Amino acid sequence: MRDPLPPRPALSLVIPIFNEEETIPELARRLEAFLATVGETWEVVFVDDGSKDRSLDLLRGLTAREHRFKLVGLARNFGHQIAITAGLDVADGDAVVVMDADLQDPPEVVTEMLARFREGYDVVFAIRSKRHGETVFKRVTAGVFYRLFNMMLGFEVPNDAGDFRLMSRKVVLTLRSLRERHRFVRGMVAWIGFRQTRVSYERPVRFAGETKYPLSKMVRFAIDGITSFSTVPMRTATWLAGATASLAVVIAGWAMLQNLRGEPVVRGWTTIMMLVALCASAQLLMMGILGEYVGRIYDEVKRRPLYTVQERINLDEPSREMAEPTSRTGPH
Ligand code: UDP
Ligand code: MG
Repeated sequence: MRDPLPPRPALSLVIPIFNEEETIPELARRLEAFLATVGETWEVVFVDDGSKDRSLDLLRGLTAREHRFKLVGLARNFGHQIAITAGLDVADGDAVVVMDADLQDPPEVVTEMLARFREGYDVVFAIRSKRHGETVFKRVTAGVFYRLFNMMLGFEVPNDAGDFRLMSRKVVLTLRSLRERHRFVRGMVAWIGFRQTRVSYERPVRFAGETKYPLSKMVRFAIDGITSFSTVPMRTATWLAGATASLAVVIAGWAMLQNLRGEPVVRGWTTIMMLVALCASAQLLMMGILGEYVGRIYDEVKRRPLYTVQERINLDEPSREMAEPTSRTGPH
């Protein structure tokens, strides 16, 4: 049976948009200039993340004059990571690139990413070698965050990688099967695996308007990132239990020594201190045990696939979970 749908484009760009009316006209100009030279079939999927300004109208205008410009308009502001997900759910390209609307992720870097993709890589992260126009505070906090984050995980999320990255169709299809609610997409992509590589670029300043990531959203984002990939914070109770139990032993030892030296401590002090430390450690230990179970429940409810597969040889295509949600199938 012939596929009734039009052929898939070679390249999809996914661009989340939240109140970007000032940048959209320039973004469209830069995209068109770039895509005219890319030498591949393409589509651009704009995701309007519930903008309150004229962004949605501007995007509608763009899609009216160019059918390869596509639009998903979310019904309210769901946040950057969900907006990206909505775009990835419909992006059809053999290679899919996620980029910001504010031209901080220059389209020209995509050429380099495509070259890597053609060499056989499935994920190409764009690493910010320099961040222009970002406050020292943002740079330092981002640096500390990624280092901490990588320490807690069993796999590596590249430092200084944002959401600007290319993914092969295989990776996008796999990512679609991860439906957890608190989404830290860059971590999820690193978790998926496949052949991953990086290109670096200097991150320019935002073209116009203000960052849509105020400090409060950044903190939320960092917490989402850590809690969706690590149960280390929950385990701190167990470690603290160990620390307080050791404290009880130290106190007892010290009191005994004082007694032997003939400088006894106030009567009853040792007993009280030891009981306090022991009770605290018993409680913390129980919390840690609870934490372990809660952590396991959390892992289960995420319902992530147990593993991801890069290739299958002499085997049929896989289970339903890994397959595309739409009926369209084809080589990928
Ligand atoms: N964005 C979004 N929803 C939000 C916040 C941001 O879709 O709730 C989009 C925004 O329009 C931009 C991208 O996500 O295309 C990155 O946001 P921004 O440039 O403000 O982040 P920064 O570069 O300052 O980290
Ligand atoms: Mg930006």
